[in-house]
Amino acid sequence: MTDIVEFLTARLAHDQAEAEAARDAHMGYYATEGDAQWCVSDMGEGVHTEPHGAVVVVGSHGHLNDSVAHHIARHDPARVLAEVKAKRAIVALHMPEFVETINPDGDERSGDVCTLCDEAWPCDTLKLFAAPDYQHPHYQQAWSVNLT
Ligand SMILES: [Zn+2]
Repeated sequence: MTDIVEFLTARLAHDQAEAEAARDAHMGYYATEGDAQWCVSDMGEGVHTEPHGAVVVVGSHGHLNDSVAHHIARHDPARVLAEVKAKRAIVALHMPEFVETINPDGDERSGDVCTLCDEAWPCDTLKLFAAPDYQHPHYQQAWSVNLT
């Protein structure tokens, strides 16, 4: 059975691989300059890389809705790679620690506790990170959280 950290690590690796492939596909020999941004054309013709001008998506008004173009540009590879890096750091903060406690009534309890949240592990933070991938075959219903 996959634990939630393995699950999240695999999803982040997948996001990273796809973002790097998309970055490299549109950067050509500039691929090592991974900080290029995807920008919506001022003329409403699509999305291109900045500063190199490689075309990402082409579409005139009516063929590429402005909101779709802005969405694509906002989720460019550089942003996705930055998000992957940040999420890996957050996941690393929420590791389990095995804890045994005895309350004043003498009841013994033991289990994994999040070292940061001090709640049962996996904590809600990790569960919330996993939530967008609830349809993945390795997602476990035990990780579901109420998102109301
Ligand atoms: Zn936590």
